[in-house]
Amino acid sequence: MDWKDFFRKIFLIDLIKGLRLTFSYQRPDAIYTEQYPLERPPVAERYRGAPRLNNHPESGETLCIACNLCSIACPENLIVVGWARTEDRKKRLTTFTYDLSRCMFCGLCEDACPVDALELTQDFEIANYSREGMIWDRQALEEGPKPVRYTR
Ligand code: SF4
Ligand code: SF4
Repeated sequence: MDWKDFFRKIFLIDLIKGLRLTFSYQRPDAIYTEQYPLERPPVAERYRGAPRLNNHPESGETLCIACNLCSIACPENLIVVGWARTEDRKKRLTTFTYDLSRCMFCGLCEDACPVDALELTQDFEIANYSREGMIWDRQALEEGPKPVRYTR
């Protein structure tokens, strides 16, 4: 060990340098606190969050054609599509369940959907108090999450 290293250790130079860096971030102008939930933070454009089953904007009819491709594409096998045949032999969506507690938000179901009916939105407030509450039915998927908005 040379003298330079010796004095460096004796006078705790590295510690002082570290503390200087730490305290440089304690300046009022360097502090940033997100005010969530009062202010919702913007999420990345490509963020994949709460699923939504889209309806036609004018007719309000579901865009889903009950093809089951999303369910087949899902590696977790968590989507269950229910359907029935109409009198003219067309498939019509009856039920749709999506178990959010098992979802890894990979987006494969969204990519598989041929009519853009299933979409992973930017909603991130999907916490729930029970496991059952994490299983969304067709109505919940069409309406989307309804988080409590806090105001002062
Ligand atoms: S995002 Fe991935 S894991 Fe979740 S339902 Fe879609 S395919 Fe399955
Ligand atoms: S892939 Fe799309 S259209 Fe087909 S069942 Fe799933 S959500 Fe409906």
